[in-house]
Amino acid sequence: KRLVLIGPPGSGKGTQSPIIKDEYCLCHLATGDMLRAAVAAKTPLGVKAKEAMDNGQLVSDDLVVGIIDEAIKKPSCQKGFILDGFPRTVVQAQKLDEMLEKQGSKIDKVLNFAIDDAILEERITGRWIHPSSGRTYHTKFAPPKIPGVDDVTGEPLIQRKDDTAAVLKSRLEAFHKQTEPVVDYYSKKGVVADLQAEKPPKEVTADVQKVLS
Ligand code: ADP
Ligand code: ADP
Ligand code: ADP
Repeated sequence: KRLVLIGPPGSGKGTQSPIIKDEYCLCHLATGDMLRAAVAAKTPLGVKAKEAMDNGQLVSDDLVVGIIDEAIKKPSCQKGFILDGFPRTVVQAQKLDEMLEKQGSKIDKVLNFAIDDAILEERITGRWIHPSSGRTYHTKFAPPKIPGVDDVTGEPLIQRKDDTAAVLKSRLEAFHKQTEPVVDYYSKKGVVADLQAEKPPKEVTADVQKVLS
């Protein structure tokens, strides 16, 4: 399966991805994670991406299209993939279609994580992440057994620098202006499944499984 996950920050894409990935043996490609790794390693890509990310704006299409183009060619992604956080503009969606056409493949399903903006601030400001596994926790909705510590490995959890109420505002503006049109783009192709992303995580997982079965 070749899947795209679209939804605003905090809608649950990163929480559902590892579950879907394991169930269908897909590779998980999250452009946000890849960009954060590049920023941390101070690679040329990271240096170019940092300012936009810190301010909650989108990184330029050319930069992210380049990373995805490289990633989807990897052997581990040939059986299928989950694109989490990409495409985020109509230009990115068009470029993705061109890349897939060359491989003779296409996107099978777009999962649209629909949710009211009002819920997102609490989700984002309470988010804690275990970077190496991608496990997400939440101070109120999914607290770790020991605050700040991953349940499975005992390693420290982190909070993202851009997970503040102020930066969230910019990220939501970017989402409505630049990313929502991507849902329309895929709707015209008849591949969009709408999810009610405000439901508890397990119910969202069950809805995803229904859509993909
Ligand atoms: P979220 O958890 O809010 O969905 P991500 O981790 O996907 O956020 O992305 C974090 C930041 O990385 C974005 O605010 C943006 O600056 C950058 N980014 C990630 N994916 C893309 C993309 N496809 N196009 C442009 N910028 C991106
Ligand atoms: P995204 O990847 O779309 O930005 P995440 O999956 O990281 O969002 O979720 C953001 C925060 O909200 C995390 O702290 C996560 O534990 C929590 N969360 C995710 N899904 C739900 C849900 N269905 N109900 C309540 N909290 C959730
Ligand atoms: P259980 O104890 O039934 O196995 P979990 O430990 O997975 O359930 O989750 C306990 C509660 O926290 C459930 O109500 C679940 O919906 C919620 N939850 C689990 N994971 C997350 C998450 N990542 N974000 C928000 N809420 C979560």
